[in-house]
Amino acid sequence: MIQLINSTMEQSWKAFQEYRNISAAGRLEFLKAIAKGLEAAGDDLVQVASEETNLAIARLRNELARTIHQLISYGEAAVKGVILDIRIVTAISERNPPRPDIRKMNLPIGPVVVFGASNFPFAYSTPGGDTASALAAGCTVVVKGHPAHARTSQACADIILEAARVSNMPKGVFAHIPGESYEIGQALVQHPLTRAVGFTGSLPGGRALFDIAATRKNPIPVFAEMGSVNPVYLLPEKLSASIESLVSQFTTSITGSVGQFCTKPGLFIGIEGDDLNEFLEKLSSRVAQIAPAKMLHPGIAKSYLERRGRALEQDGIDTLYPDVNEEGSPLVATVHAAEYLDNPVLHEEVFGPYALVIRCEDINQLTEIAIRMEGQITSTIIATDDELEKNAALVRIIMESCGRLIINGVPTGVEVVSSMHHGGPYPATTDSRFTSVGPDALRRFLRPLSFQNFPAHLLPDELKDENPLKLFRLVNEQLTDMPILK
Ligand code: NAP
Repeated sequence: MIQLINSTMEQSWKAFQEYRNISAAGRLEFLKAIAKGLEAAGDDLVQVASEETNLAIARLRNELARTIHQLISYGEAAVKGVILDIRIVTAISERNPPRPDIRKMNLPIGPVVVFGASNFPFAYSTPGGDTASALAAGCTVVVKGHPAHARTSQACADIILEAARVSNMPKGVFAHIPGESYEIGQALVQHPLTRAVGFTGSLPGGRALFDIAATRKNPIPVFAEMGSVNPVYLLPEKLSASIESLVSQFTTSITGSVGQFCTKPGLFIGIEGDDLNEFLEKLSSRVAQIAPAKMLHPGIAKSYLERRGRALEQDGIDTLYPDVNEEGSPLVATVHAAEYLDNPVLHEEVFGPYALVIRCEDINQLTEIAIRMEGQITSTIIATDDELEKNAALVRIIMESCGRLIINGVPTGVEVVSSMHHGGPYPATTDSRFTSVGPDALRRFLRPLSFQNFPAHLLPDELKDENPLKLFRLVNEQLTDMPILK
């Protein structure tokens, strides 16, 4: 296996020397060819993925469509060049000392190793956002196939390899290493030719790979997107006015795809009283009516019941409906804020259709929970405009711990657009500055380089005075797409 990893990484490095020089327009054509291949094989891919993951066909069709959109839109973003962050400061020869000509842009970082997650066989796996953003950025990619959807992963890899062939991409631009062993992934992260890692999965997995990368002789960045409990803060006026619709929206959000979303709302925090009791009663009842369903794989199903069981054993935890100890059975539990605050077990993600409603004495206790909240992909506030205004300090505290703040909505459903931030402070990710969704995801796999006094005719097209690619650039602190006139 070590031999295979060495030869794969060497080939990836060799391919990178060529691929980095292919224009963004050329890379877009390659990404479009992958998208076309996925679309053509769509029915078969969705069928196989459904057999491997137990996810519904309709959900997988949507996920595949999103994956195709990611590939094309990330390629288009590379062509537009905004993610290159071009800055040009021209020389002033008459200054004493003279100011040199300095031009900066982002360049691809090198071969990227990608780990997908079990719950998104397309959008966060072999042909998913990490692969799409690394290829669009000009990096070569080596995917460690996820064993929970090995056939889907291989079929997608074959489509990417065929797209590389018909697009005349260098051999090794993409590689796929299947296999069920942490050692494969760890060896890929340790390999000296690996330059960055994209990971989507559990906190222990992401953290283990992050630590390995940090202790390499030459440490590399690991962009790990991990679990999240996605707290929902319920402010009293809005809760009182919309109990029915909240129960209906959140029942779907907690139980959709058997609760197997990193954005599933797992925590509701409200102030004790009749409205919160009614919300808890109705949410518990509606969620309990949803039939248990098969989860992604036996490991996830076992872990769900174990983690949920462990949470339910904690002091002060209560449920209004019986705890059905069956695979994928949905459940809502409740606890008083004081007990929640003192018990770290209750802060952990329970991956599956489970949520905990926390009852606070007052807004101060609710604020205390917000202050102590760990990093989250999303936080949601249910509030009237008036409540948001009156609780501006609380809103600012909630902003501190999340990557996306939702007002009067649900956290599930992630738009692939340039204004999306899918990330958040640790432990939601290992680097809160970056997103794994939307064209800004390319930034993870780029690094800046300043060209000082570089001969004008030898500069990359992106930095030339004539601006042949018509990119928007910051020239002497002015944003412009015009050429630089001498
Ligand atoms: P996982 O068990 O962590 O696996 C993800 C990948 O990482 C697999 O390929 C796995 O290897 C590898 N891996 C895990 N631990 C490793 C270790 N110690 N050393 C080397 N490789 C390791 O996660 P999962 O069960 O597939 O996915 C569910 C989790 O993903 C949930 O917590 C969910 O919240 C999270 N998630 C997050 C996002 C997000 O965007 N933040 C999106 C989707 C899911 P093998 O291939 O050998 O098994």
